Amino acid sequence: MANKITVGHVHMSGCTGCLVSLADNYLGLIKILDDYADLVYGLTLADVRHIPEMDVALVEGSVCIQDHESVEDIKTARKKAKIVVAVGGCAASGNINRFDRGGQHNQPQHESYVPISDLIDVDVFIPGCAPTPQMIRNVCVMAYLLLRGSDDQKALAAKYLKPLMALAKNPIASKANFNTLMQEVINVGLCMGCGSCAGACPVRAISMEFGKPQGARDLCINCGACYSQCPRSFFHFEVMDEYEAITDIINGAMK
Ligand code: SF4
Ligand code: SF4
Repeated sequence: MANKITVGHVHMSGCTGCLVSLADNYLGLIKILDDYADLVYGLTLADVRHIPEMDVALVEGSVCIQDHESVEDIKTARKKAKIVVAVGGCAASGNINRFDRGGQHNQPQHESYVPISDLIDVDVFIPGCAPTPQMIRNVCVMAYLLLRGSDDQKALAAKYLKPLMALAKNPIASKANFNTLMQEVINVGLCMGCGSCAGACPVRAISMEFGKPQGARDLCINCGACYSQCPRSFFHFEVMDEYEAITDIINGAMK
């Protein structure tokens, strides 16, 4: 299909779980690559040495500020991409990378990991540790519609992306912990018992009891993954009101 957007996968320091999640779209990923996006960069996916100009940079992982090459790479990605997407908790909030000193990372000289938003402006955050395959797919389709769609499609894509753009600018995601989830979601009756927070917690500090999350605060490492993954923590009613139109447009695009 003509007029595809160009997309790159920029891999900073992370566990590669977000890339696995992207690949878990299976035929959906092939559909996106066939019809909507040309992959122009990706260390494990495309034979390109230097970060090129692109429409969308999907950035996975956080940045070790002692690794000057990584710092330069993320700044280059910002310069070369129209839209920078922080894919997953490590890119957006530092997540488990900020707390793994003495743990299992493979470059012990790297001690100070920061979220990419500490170094560059980020446009969109896809929450999760790792984000769901569908969420990554949806953002790719919506980015295509935002850049290449009709006026109606652009408006709908902007609505879908708006809370994810707000999340990218909202520092609470990098300061959130289980208490934040309690105060802003559970205690005000917004929790629907989906269990995403428990599934996202890298230290298993959350368990689901009688359909509601319970946190072991002594285990919590303040990584923000639970808050960022919770579908009730950031999606606002402007998007929920358009739910059917949004699912229709995504389903139509993936046929
Ligand atoms: S409860 Fe778990 S996911 Fe939530 S901030 Fe604490 S460690 Fe992170
Ligand atoms: S992710 Fe949010 S809505 Fe789902 S169980 Fe946890 S607090 Fe409730």
